[in-house]
Parts: sequence; C-alpha cells; structure tokens
Amino acid sequence: MDQFSVGIVGGDLRFVRLCEILCEHNVNTWVYALNHPDIPKTANITNSLEAISHCNYVLGPIPFSRDGRNLFTPLSNVNVSIEMFIQYMNSSFLCLSVLNEQLIDTLNKRNLKFIDLMRMDEIAILNAIPTAEGAIQYAMQNSEITLNESNCIVLGFGRCGKILANKLKGIGANVYVEARSTTDLAFISTYDYIPVPLFKVKNELSKFDFIFNTIPAQILTNEFIDICKKDAVYIELASAPGGIVDIAYAKNKGMQYIPAPGLPGKVAPKTAAQILYHGLEIIIKGGT
Ligand code: NAP
Repeated sequence: MDQFSVGIVGGDLRFVRLCEILCEHNVNTWVYALNHPDIPKTANITNSLEAISHCNYVLGPIPFSRDGRNLFTPLSNVNVSIEMFIQYMNSSFLCLSVLNEQLIDTLNKRNLKFIDLMRMDEIAILNAIPTAEGAIQYAMQNSEITLNESNCIVLGFGRCGKILANKLKGIGANVYVEARSTTDLAFISTYDYIPVPLFKVKNELSKFDFIFNTIPAQILTNEFIDICKKDAVYIELASAPGGIVDIAYAKNKGMQYIPAPGLPGKVAPKTAAQILYHGLEIIIKGGT
C-alpha cells in the first residue's frame, strides 16, 4: 500500500491503532480531528481538511455521524460538519461507515467515489467477533446471574446475530434466535439453537433473562416490553434508533436497557483496526 496516501478524519481509538498499523507499513498517512499520544510521529497530523483532500483514500469515523450534522470525532474538540467534509472530498476515494440513505443520496448526487465499509462482508463479518465479545461483556457486567444456563434471545440472524449466538452457546446459555426467513430458522435449528419466528417473539419474550438486539428496526413496541421479565437485561447492538420504540417506557418497566454502540472500537480497538486495514487492502487492490 506504500504508493498510496491515506487520510483519517475523526473516529475512536481503533483509528489511532489503524494509524499505527498504516505507519508501520510505511503508508503516507494523514490525520485530522483525531488526537491521541499514540499517533506515530511519522503520521502527518494536519488541522485542515484541505490537506486531507489530497489523499488517495480517506477514512471517515465509525459511525460516520452520531448527530446527523457532524462527523463522529470523540477524540478531538474539532467539529467537522458533514457538509464541509463533502465539499472538500471531491477527488479521494471515501471509505465511510454506517451511512443512511439520505447521505448516500447526497454522495451520489455529488458524484463522489465512496464505499460503506460496514456493508463489506469482509469487514462486517470479522467485526461481528469483537461485537459479540463486547455484548457478552456488557451482559455479564449488568447482571447478577451467569450467562451459563440463562435464557438468552438473539434478535436477528445476520452477521452479528450468527456470531453472537455461537459465542453464547459456547458459554452454556440456552440460546433462542429470532429470524423472519424460514431458511434462517432452519439454520438456527441445525446449529442447536431454539428458533423463534419473528411473529412468535411476543409469545416467548417473558422467558428471557437477556435480550440481544441486532435488528436495525424498531419492532419492539410497548406491548412487547410489557411481556418481558421485569429485570431483563436488554443489550442494544443495532445502530440508532435501535429496536425499542419507547426506551423510557422500557426503563420505567424495570428493563435494564444497555446501549452498546461501537463495541469493536471500545472493547478491541487493535483487532478492529486490523480488520479495517484488511478491508482497506481489499479496496486498494480492487477487490470490491
Ligand atoms: P445484518 O447482517 O444485515 O443482519 C441484520 C438482521 O436484522 C438480519 O437478520 C435481518 O433479517 C434482520 N432485520 C433487518 N430488518 C428487519 C426488520 N425490519 N424486521 C425484522 N428483522 C429485520 O446486519 P449486522 O451486520 O448483523 O448488523 C446488525 C446491526 O448491528 C446493524 O444496525 C449494525 O449497524 C449494528 N452493528 C453494531 C455494532 C456495535 O458495536 N453495536 C457492531 C456491528 C454492527 P433479514 O436477513 O431477514 O433481512
């Protein structure tokens, strides 16, 4: 990758670790809105988006934005507005993450070259491992019972749901998995988890000590919450707005609602950075 320049704008600790990896590989690395003592001296730290705009590849934070206006820059005091970022980045290939339809539309209208890294299976599947480990860590920290022999339901059987169900099974939990497709439900049975079709979730909810949501849609109305165990631990893995319609209502009912965004960057930033580097190599070699 040494003939390319890579810019990093914002992001959490995983982007600091990524910066270290890039510099170890002698990649010409530029950094903006990311402050940390571990950023190598060989990285070019800049305070201008203009400097970043000359990079061949520019990585945005994960998620790209939390408030819909600015990029996610938790390690910097600099506010980088989405509008300003888009204005400058007109020649680089943009490696962004967790993009909503509105943003995708804007990027397309401006004819920008971009990819959503989280839609790349090569990244998202590997990321599901630190996500699952983090979810289990949060569940353990927020409960007075063991996961072993507890009743757990994983809502969704996509990339995160599959890996999480597997890890929970290994810990000795009674693993129920929700899916809406009959194919997924068949796979769930073959893996020795207990399948729960989406339309039956409401009937089953009262038995769960732990609910792990990976469905990026608000399917859990108050009717569902009313059925849950009073002290059920709910780990929200899906991106905002998550799966619960009225979070305040759920908390009032006694549910232990645990938001768990950005787990790879929090619980395993080095691993998450290696995964990003692997994805970047695939992009640069033209594998997507
Ligand atoms: P995925 O592979 O697309 O899986 C999503 C699952 O949700 C699938 O089983 C899908 O079912 C189901 N689903 C989607 N819309 C649904 C709806 N309206 N009703 C019922 N089921 C629905 O996604 P993923 O990679 O596992 O990621 C899941 C979520 O976690 C995303 O929001 C992602 O951004 C987030 N995430 C969070 C972290 C973290 O650290 N918290 C880390 C990674 C990912 P079908 O297959 O039938 O469509």
